This record gives sequence, C-alpha cells and structure tokens, in this order.
Amino acid sequence: MRVLITGVAGFLGSHLADRFIGAGHEVVGMDNFVTGSPDNIAHLTGNGRFAFFEHNVTNFIYVEGALDGVLHFASPASPRDYLELPIQTLKVGSLGTHKALGIAKAKGARFLLASTSEVYGDPLVHPQPEGYWGNVNPVGPRGVYDEAKRFAEAMTMAYHRFHGLDTRIVRIFNTYGPRMRVRDGRVVSNFVVQALKGEPLTVYGDGSQTRSFTYVDDLVDGIVRLFERGTSEPVNLGNPNEFTVRQLADLVLKLTGSRSRVVREPLPQDDPKVRQPDIARARQALGWEPKVQLEQGLETTIAHFRRKLA
Ligand code: NAD
Ligand code: UDP
Repeated sequence: MRVLITGVAGFLGSHLADRFIGAGHEVVGMDNFVTGSPDNIAHLTGNGRFAFFEHNVTNFIYVEGALDGVLHFASPASPRDYLELPIQTLKVGSLGTHKALGIAKAKGARFLLASTSEVYGDPLVHPQPEGYWGNVNPVGPRGVYDEAKRFAEAMTMAYHRFHGLDTRIVRIFNTYGPRMRVRDGRVVSNFVVQALKGEPLTVYGDGSQTRSFTYVDDLVDGIVRLFERGTSEPVNLGNPNEFTVRQLADLVLKLTGSRSRVVREPLPQDDPKVRQPDIARARQALGWEPKVQLEQGLETTIAHFRRKLA
C-alpha cells in the first residue's frame, strides 16, 4: 500500500508514518513546517519507503504515481498555535481538506480526516457520543479551529455522498507523548516542561475543567484500525479516563519529583469545561480501546522532555 500523509512532520503525522512504514507500506509525506519540525522525520531520511515533499496543502496537491490512501493530518492543533495562526488554520481545514479530498478522488484512494473532539465545543452532553452535534461559538477565538474542522467533516461527507469516495473521520481527543514540542503550548507539554525546569505550573482558571488524555501509541493503533476496517461514520478515539487539569498538575509533580509551585492564570475564552469521549462505537466497530494508563504514558513523555531539555 502507498499512502499520502499530510502534516507528516507533526507530532501525530510522524508517528503515523512510522506505523505505516513499520508495517511494510510506502509513505509519501507532505508538510510546510508551520508547526512541525524536520527533526520528527529525520530518522526516515534515506528510507526507500518514505518520500517527503515540502508543500502547503492549502494549494493544489500533486503526487506522481498511485495512492491507496490519503490521511489528512495537516493543521495547527495546539490552541496556542491556532490562535497565532487563525487564517492558516481556517485555510488548511477548508481549502487544504478540499485539496486532500481532490487528490484522493483523482487516485481512487481511501481518505481519512483527522478531526477533533473540539467539534463538540464546550459540550452540553457528557460524555460525548458521535451523535452529539456540539456547542461551538463560531465567532470566538477558538472558532477558527473548531469551525474549520466542522467544515472539513462536512466536506468529507459531501465527497463520500456525492462522489462515492471511501472516507473515514476520526475525532481525536487530547493526545500526548514523545515528539511533542517544548513550546507546544498544550497542557501536558506545558506542565512537564515547567516541572522539569523548576518553573511554576500554569493552571488556567481554577483547574476544575476536565480532559481525557490518550497516549499516542493507542491513538495510532485506533487510527490504523479505522483506516483499515472502519466506515464513513465519524469515530471518537480517546481515553475515557477523565482528569481535572489540577489533578494532571499534581500527577506531573509527583512523577517528575519537581518542587515547582502551581500558579493560576486566566482561563482562555470558550475553554471547554469538560471533555470525555464515549468510545462505544470504537469498541464495537474496531475492537479498540486504549491500553496505556496516564501514569505510564506520562513516564515516557517525561523521559522524552528530559532528553529535549538536556
Ligand atoms: P502538529 O502541529 O504537531 O502537526 C501538524 C502538522 O501539520 C505540522 O507538522 C504542520 O507543520 C503541518 N501543517 C499545518 N498546516 C499545514 C499546511 N497548510 N500544509 C502542510 N502542512 C501543514 O499537531 P498534531 O498534534 O500532530 O495534530 C495533527 C492533526 O491531528 C491535526 O489535524 C489536529 O487538528 C489533529 N488533532 C490532534 C489532537 C492532539 O491531541 N494531538 C487532537 C485532536 C485533533
Ligand atoms: N491548560 C492549563 N495550563 C496550561 C495549558 C493548558 O491549565 O499551561 C488547560 C486549558 O485551559 C484547558 C486544558 O488545560 O482547559 C487543556 O488545554 P490544551 O491546550 O492542552 O488543549 P484543549 O483541550 O483546550 O484543546
């Protein structure tokens, strides 16, 4: 099999490329390094099963030869990034998804969209099943990401229904692990880096908001299953174990042995108060559920950041 992965130099895209290459497939990777890094794919340089093209996928995508799959992961993903890159985020989610769908159609390839739990916004239903339509503020600062992904889902379904394209939509919940950037801005990387540097851990608001954290290996396993044996229905992939942000801060302090203080900073506008995936569909359709507990995954992630900061 030969697949195109957009956003291949990012956190998730690079892990996904490793998984496909490890399984004996060929990967064509594309990225413009807006939030990703060449370091994430440096180990693949010279690998005969990997080809890389620096390209902004908001523009027409050209790939020579056959493709069996297109996995569209290009998009700023951290709130810090998409708030700094609002127009690029809207463009890659809309125009970029259109281009990625276009090449999938031209090649007769299966298409998989990396969507997000953020399509549920600040949810009024908890936990969130795929049938929930969400509570998103289109004109708030996070709207640039949420609405781009909602548009991307609608576009994917239109290609499925109108052109008969074989499509998948994965709604990814907060995922963490090695290869996250030191300045990624998301909560796990912020807390671990702050703890390792002996700086205060910045809890936004009172820290009672919740998230459910998935270790990257579990997520990649679910994505491959969805790609291989899923259907066009959106599927939540996430860990149903829910933690408050404050609990996460305490756990990071315990596991790093850090004596950092915890300080409060203002809660960003429209920050979802709760988040937990209902994964009944993934369990039933894919036989998937996460295996890695938060403590275990954090240990590996802490080791990664220790190496980065050394
Ligand atoms: P990331 O920022 O590490 O990776 C995104 C990659 O896309 C980067 O390498 C970036 O340079 C590239 N990119 C962005 N715009 C591009 C463009 N126009 N053309 C080419 N490349 C472009 O983020 P990530 O955490 O790996 O997220 C990957 C995907 O998964 C995103 O679509 C994101 O929305 C989705 N997702 C991630 C999470 C998570 O917890 N990590 C949760 C929900 C959804
Ligand atoms: N958060 C925090 N301190 C930080 C970074 C994030 O308290 O230094 C909070 C943030 O307000 C949110 C949660 O942690 O409630 C998860 O934030 P993240 O940026 O990881 O992603 P989100 O789930 O909001 O997309």
